[in-house]
Formats: sequence, C-alpha cells, structure tokens
Amino acid sequence: MFENYSIPPKTYFEIASFGYLSVLYLISFYDPDRNKIRSYTLFRNLELNMLLALIVSVLTYIFAFPELGTPIPVCLILRTMDSVLCVMASRTFSIYLMEYIDTKGKVKVISFIGNILFTTYIILMILNLFFKFVLWFTPEGIYMHGPLFVPIVFSTPVYYMSSCILMLILSIRNLGVRERVSLSVASFVTLFGIIIQAATNGILLLSLPFGSIGIFVLYFSIETSDYHQLLWNIEKLRIAEQDAIKANHAKSDFLANMSHEIRTPLNAVLGMDELILLETEENNKPNPSLIDHIREYAFNIKEAGEVLLSVINDILDLTKIESGKMEISPAPYNLHTLTDNIETMMRIRAEQKGLSYIQKIDSSIPDHLIGDELRIRQIVINLLGNAVKYTDFGEVELDITMGNKDPDSLTLIFCVKDTGIGIRKEDLPHVFDAFQRIDEEHNHKIEGTGLGLSIVQRMAALMNGDVSVTSEYGKGSAFTVSIPQRIDRDYKGESSIKNSLKHSELFTFITPDARFLVVDDNRLNLVVAKRFLDGLEGTIETAKSGEEALGKMRTEKYDMIFMDHMMPGIDGIETLKLSLKDTDNLNRETPIIMMTANALSGMREEYISQGFTDYVSKPIELKELLRIVNLHLPKEKIK
Ligand code: ADP
Repeated sequence: MFENYSIPPKTYFEIASFGYLSVLYLISFYDPDRNKIRSYTLFRNLELNMLLALIVSVLTYIFAFPELGTPIPVCLILRTMDSVLCVMASRTFSIYLMEYIDTKGKVKVISFIGNILFTTYIILMILNLFFKFVLWFTPEGIYMHGPLFVPIVFSTPVYYMSSCILMLILSIRNLGVRERVSLSVASFVTLFGIIIQAATNGILLLSLPFGSIGIFVLYFSIETSDYHQLLWNIEKLRIAEQDAIKANHAKSDFLANMSHEIRTPLNAVLGMDELILLETEENNKPNPSLIDHIREYAFNIKEAGEVLLSVINDILDLTKIESGKMEISPAPYNLHTLTDNIETMMRIRAEQKGLSYIQKIDSSIPDHLIGDELRIRQIVINLLGNAVKYTDFGEVELDITMGNKDPDSLTLIFCVKDTGIGIRKEDLPHVFDAFQRIDEEHNHKIEGTGLGLSIVQRMAALMNGDVSVTSEYGKGSAFTVSIPQRIDRDYKGESSIKNSLKHSELFTFITPDARFLVVDDNRLNLVVAKRFLDGLEGTIETAKSGEEALGKMRTEKYDMIFMDHMMPGIDGIETLKLSLKDTDNLNRETPIIMMTANALSGMREEYISQGFTDYVSKPIELKELLRIVNLHLPKEKIK
C-alpha cells in the first residue's frame, strides 16, 4: 500500500537533523545533577519538541498528498500538526532562552504576550480546519495556502525568535562571554532557518534543521555537564561565602556584645571596691554610716558579680555543649521541690518588675522522677528569666503539664508564657541561633548575650527533649519545652534530693575539733572558703601558695586540706605530689580536696587519678562543700 509514497529530497536535511538530534537526546537523557538547573529541563523539552516537529514534518512531506491516496482530512491534520509543532518549537526555544537571561520582570511581559499569541494561534489553527483561511485542500486534493498563512504560520515563530533575540541583546551584559556567544549563535541560526524557509515558500525546509544546529551549539557550549558542574560549584562557593560572612558578623557582634556584658558588671565591682577602699582609709574621719555604706557597696558587688558569673557560665555551658563535654546526670528528684524552688526565685524577680507571676502544675504528674534536675531548672529559669526581661507590663506564667505517660516514663512539658514585646514572625526561626540577638534596634537597652536560648535548645536536645516557640509581635511569646523523664518507681518515701534549705539549716553537723587548711592564691577565694567553713566551728588556716602550704603541712596536722589548682609557682597538683614525697609532711593521710574553677566534665575523675580525694568546683556552693566535708572528714570529728 505504500508503493505510491517516496521520501522527497527536500526532507533530507530534516532526516539528518532527526538522526543527530536523537543521538544528542540520548546523550543528555538522564543526568540527576544537571536536573537541579532549571534551564536544563527546558533544554530537554526543547530537544523533545524539535524531535517531534522533525518526525511530523518528514511524515507530512511523505504522506500529506491526496493524489497519492491519503484521505484529505488526514492530509489536513498532518499539515496542521506540522505547522503547530514548528511554532511550538520556536516558542520553547524562546522560553528556554528567556529563562536563561531572566532580567527584572521584562521576560514575564514578553512571555505573557507570547502566551496570548500562542493561544490565539492554536484557536486560529483549529478554526482553520473548518474555515480554511490558513491552509487547506481543494476538493480535488490540491494543497493551498489561505490569505492568513504567512501572517500566522511564519510571523508567530519570527515573533518568538526576534523577541528573545531582543531580550538577549538587552541583557547581554549580565551574561558571561560563553553564554553570550552560544545563545546569540543559536538564536540567529534558528531565526535564519525560519526566514529562509519562509522566503523560499517552503521549497527549502531549513527552519527545523537550523533550529537543531542551534540546539547542538547550546548543548556543547552551555548545557554540558562540565559547565553545569562549574556553575554549580560556583553557586556552592557563593553560598559558603555568604554563610561565612554571616557567621563572622554574628561572632563579631557577639564579641562586641560580650565585652560590653562583661565590662558593665566589672566596672561596678571595681567602682564599689574603690569606694570601700576610700571610705575605710586609715586617716579618714570615722563615719557613723560607714557600715551601712559598705554593706550597700558589698551588695552591689554581689549583684554585679552574679551577672558576671552568669555570663561566664553561659559561655562555659555553650563551649561544653559544643565540644560534646556537657554530661547529663539523671538522678531521682522531687518535681514539687524543683517547681517550688523555681517559683520562689521567679516570683520575686517578676514582682520586682511589677509583673504578676502565675505558676500552674498538673496535679496528676507523679512527684518522684528521675532526670537531671539541675539542667531542667537551668532551662526553665532561663526561659522565665527571658520572659521577665522582655515583658514590661502584665504577667509571666509557667504551666507544667505532662504528655506521653506510660508506667515508667512521661514527658514533662514546661510552657513559659509572657505578655511582653513578642518576636517578629521573620525573627522566630533565628531565636535559637547562638550569638544572635534579634530585633536589636528595640532590644539594645535590654542586656543579653544571645546565648541563653541556644543553650536551652541544645540542653533540651541532650535530654532528648525539644523546645518550640510561638509569638505575636507586641503581644507576647510562649516557649514550650518537652523533656522525657523516667518515673522513680523505687521511691520509698523520702526525697533523694534534699529540699533547698536555708543557710543555717544546711549546717546539720559541726566539726569543732577539725583543722582545715585552705590553699589558694586568690585572697577573695580564701575569704569565701573560710566564711563557709566557719559555720562548722573548726579551726581554719589558709596558705596563699603551694610553697606556703608545704611549709604548713610540715608543722601542723590537718583533718582536711582544700587546694586550688592554678597558682603561681608550684600549682595544686605539683604541691600534692611534692607533699606526698616529703617525709616530714604530717599530712600524708589527710584528705586533700581539689577546689577549682575548672568545671569541665570528667575533671573529677582526672583529679582523683592525680591523687586528690575529691573535687569541688568554684564558685563554691555551701551545700556541696558540706557534703564533701561530711563524706571525707574522719567520722569522730563530726558532731
Ligand atoms: P539574650 O541574652 O539576648 O536574651 P537569648 O538567646 O536568651 O539571648 O534570646 C535570643 C533573643 O530572642 C533575644 O535577644 C530576644 O530578642 C528574643 N527573646 C527571647 N525570649 C524572648 C521573650 N520571652 N520575648 C521576646 N523576645 C524574646
């Protein structure tokens, strides 16, 4: 049945183009990396469109002839499809090119006009099937061009190609040399093919073969995987550079902020100290209100010292978390003791600022839990501290509820709400970033380091918990922390952690016959340690250096020695070693306790392995100091 049909010579270019374009399509068939680049997907659409157009064109010039036996409607449909696919190919080409050179919004206008044009073109081609004003066949089977053939079938692709060439010229400065050359060559070649085909009234079928050459140029110049890889690497470098700049800014801001935070309380400490020295100068006239003044200065020094300590603790905590050295130590504790403790502390702070403090606890939560009470307390106090800090009127509320309960465990949920300044929606994702304070233009008067929430989040994560925040700018915020805890099923009636006791209540024993030696080069530390140990009513001696301590250890027998680590001359560890070698030392059996600010985890074991009996961290907590004395002092000295 096909004996009438033959392949006309004028389609040879198209057949050749079909051959090499198919090979190109296969080469670029699948490349997951390159698919990340949008222009590449459009490029593959263009290849596919061109292949379809080529097939249909060749089929049209073989079969669309009624005189050879093909029914007229089939011929008409083939001719229509041939035209539609050619126009579509030029449109896909222009979309590809415009995406590539995308300039501020201009492309959108051009593609909008292009879309209207294409829709109109398709409608006209459908109408043409009935009204024959573009292309048609006479009843005798002769192919005819209607009056609108040239304006519609040729001017549409010419519009696409010339508008994208115009865009290319306008945006040429934004492109690299390689892109400029290849995009220009490809589009001019394609346009040239369309024009020749139109000028020869279809005697030369060159629009699709020239378009295919354009595609070839594009593929081997800017759509190759090497070039894409290069672009991709440049993009990654650009992102990395931006991240580095951002991190650097954050660190610089942090340093500036931190020096301010440290300098302010330090100035207060030094200023107050100066005043004390001035007022107690020997030749000063006795001043009756001297004691009151000194008390006030001392109180100010205490406040400033606490601020300073909390800043330094934050830095230490973050460093510990970042270096993976923060350990979570689960132990049995009493939830109510913890929450009462938090309430006592926070109610005062809130009320001092004129805020009401509300604390609610779900009474069905078991009271005896196992977890790291200290860290939970730190998290909740941090959130409540922020709530008070960032609220000027209204209230601060802590709600404690429970989620996911089973016989052995539950999730504790702490929700801290405030009616404060709130956080902008766009800032919410950054509140937990380390070193970052947000909304600085409004918050610069409020002191802070930008570390608190980051510590909260990381600490919660260490306990397998998480933190979230909701906020309405100007109205208030709500931070929610969920932390899984085990239920203390072995609890037999007495809380394992003692309730927080008042200063005097902590001294449940005395050691009037005990002799203590405290070794520290810092005079203040000696004063603090002495003051704490005073309550035990024993004898306390001090030494300001390792050398002095060694001398005292030869003349006195002590029941317990507290030793600082870092001291000028011989340090604490060296002093211990020398004392153990010293045959005149009367204290070779005496418990020696390391007393240091080196609070990193694992230090206790380290000091014990060096020969110390135990370890207390500075700043010293009275409760901890008494625990150590009780544990290591000979029992007959404890009353
Ligand atoms: P800072 O030491 O600055 O308070 P944080 O890490 O605790 O650092 O908090 C980070 C930022 O989050 C703060 O600078 C503040 O802008 C914002 N923020 C934290 N808590 C609140 C809150 N309760 N209300 C409003 N803003 C808050």
